[in-house]
Amino acid sequence: MKRLNEYLRERFGCKVYKLSLSAVKTCPNRDGTLGNKGCIFCSAGGSGDFSESPELPVKEQIARAKERVSAKIKDGRYIAYFQSFTNTYAPVRYLERVFNEAIEPDDIVALSIGTRPDCLGEEILELLTKLNSKKPVFVELGLQTMHEKTAEYIRRGYPLSVYDKAVRELKDRNIEVVVHVILGLPGESYEDMEETVKYVVASGADGIKLQLLHVLKGTDLEKDYEAGRVPVMTLDEYAGLLKRLTALIPDTCVVHRLTGDGPKKLLVAPLWSADKKKVLNILNKVLSG
Ligand code: SF4
Repeated sequence: MKRLNEYLRERFGCKVYKLSLSAVKTCPNRDGTLGNKGCIFCSAGGSGDFSESPELPVKEQIARAKERVSAKIKDGRYIAYFQSFTNTYAPVRYLERVFNEAIEPDDIVALSIGTRPDCLGEEILELLTKLNSKKPVFVELGLQTMHEKTAEYIRRGYPLSVYDKAVRELKDRNIEVVVHVILGLPGESYEDMEETVKYVVASGADGIKLQLLHVLKGTDLEKDYEAGRVPVMTLDEYAGLLKRLTALIPDTCVVHRLTGDGPKKLLVAPLWSADKKKVLNILNKVLSG
């Protein structure tokens, strides 16, 4: 298994940190285009609760985000990471300005854009291609699962064929694709999750983010959890599952994440996931054993 830190060090020759920035404040699942309730698990912050405020100019967001990590970093390099909501879901001219501003500083070595596969029209793809010729662009796609039944339950809002097309379009343009997968979605067996991971690898993704399902306050998932319809894994079960899944991932598909970290103030379950340091220590131990 190739982990992100190792990959970034090889690629950029130094330690590289992500700065969580914001550009867009909505998505088609929230603004009424496909729905207005959002994905069942998604917090009001659009799955980017640690990002800087989109109200601030990008330069200021970058300065603030750097300030947050300044104690850990002396001479690092950064990735400008647009995480929350759907970061290609806005007028192209606006996005062009924001993304160009974000990659302008010399110490920003790459751009990472979180989005949905159904928000990659021709104009956006052209913009991504232009940006990719200046600095490497990673596009992060929220697939979550390959199973249509689960996709319906979580209200993802697009079929698997849209994901396939998006990956092809991005790969044709030499843009790196990172795919988000949620582990522990209600109704999915270990075999179902293995199928999703295998599907992502076979699709040619350059990276994968494995995220444990978090039940967050204020979401519809919380209602289902309270009604006893959302079983949550123990840490031991999750570690065992990761061991099975990571064995399926070749080094050509970099593992960007082994678990998510929901904001503590919103986290309902599983509560063990709040102790990120302990969780990562245990996961690393199990995976290297
Ligand atoms: S996960 Fe993404 S697409 Fe789904 S509601 Fe949240 S921001 Fe929208």
